[in-house]
Amino acid sequence: MGVVTYSPAFTIVPTYECFNRCDYCNFRQNPGQGWNLAGEEVRKSLALLHNQDVCEILILSGEVHPRSSDRPAWLTKIYQACQVALEMGFLPHTNVGPLSWAEMMALGSVNVSMGLMVEQVTPRWRETIHRYAPSKDPELRLNQLRQAGVLRIPFTTGILVGLGESVGDRHTSLREIAKIHRQYGHIQEVIIQPYQPGSGQVSSWAGCSMGELVETIAMARSLLPMDIAIQVPPNLLMQPQDLKAALRAGARDLGGIGPVDEVNPDYGHMTLAQMAAQLSREDFRLEKRLPVYPQYEDWLPISMQRAIAQWKQRA
Ligand code: SF4
Repeated sequence: MGVVTYSPAFTIVPTYECFNRCDYCNFRQNPGQGWNLAGEEVRKSLALLHNQDVCEILILSGEVHPRSSDRPAWLTKIYQACQVALEMGFLPHTNVGPLSWAEMMALGSVNVSMGLMVEQVTPRWRETIHRYAPSKDPELRLNQLRQAGVLRIPFTTGILVGLGESVGDRHTSLREIAKIHRQYGHIQEVIIQPYQPGSGQVSSWAGCSMGELVETIAMARSLLPMDIAIQVPPNLLMQPQDLKAALRAGARDLGGIGPVDEVNPDYGHMTLAQMAAQLSREDFRLEKRLPVYPQYEDWLPISMQRAIAQWKQRA
């Protein structure tokens, strides 16, 4: 029987405000609308999770311009949210957009892993869906992967599929990720994320076909080193047979599963029992994992390794 993993997760969003405007975004609010969660509110919200089997605290945030005077306060709030999560025994994983060297180093010290989607490296998206999103510059994002590699931060990245990119664009993006991993060895998983339309975005496209998705998963499995897991978000698979096809193509991880997918709020998750039943029909067992993969645990400070050991004992 094969194994498919997931991470029981809860998402904290310090702010939905974002200076980018990606055409497909269902997450952002305009700057000036205020903080969602900060300081003691994070502690209160996490206190409700004890005894709920949640291990990963996924910290997602809208972005503040790198030269904005609000940037230091933004970073401090994210850092504090991670610190609170660690103090309370959870394992944080932060994905808040491109970071300077100093910012990534600071957040790396309070996270068991971090993430940033490459999306696609094609420059064409700079003229279409990313024309108002300066931080979606492909070279900037590839450099973030390299920076995380130099800092030895276990990392999650991924590509977005179904927004007008070509098969060749997908191939190039995956090849770039593979190349960086071969140099630094720090990429634990690559998400193959199908675009699906949502009710909050400014423009709408048809959505990624499952044929395209499955083809891209197979391409990822053939291009990426085998120590990188291929992740697919199960709530963005439209039919039960899509999960089966994704598994056949090489997907083996379902990512962080929590009450709400903040990035795709229109797409709810099945229950874990439903997911496990569906997988067992395909001869796969659903297993929990931590937000850091085992091969990277000894990259982390001793205090985090102790917290990880406690989670393993509870499993
Ligand atoms: S997708 Fe991310 S970077 Fe783009 S507008 Fe939305 S929150 Fe901002």
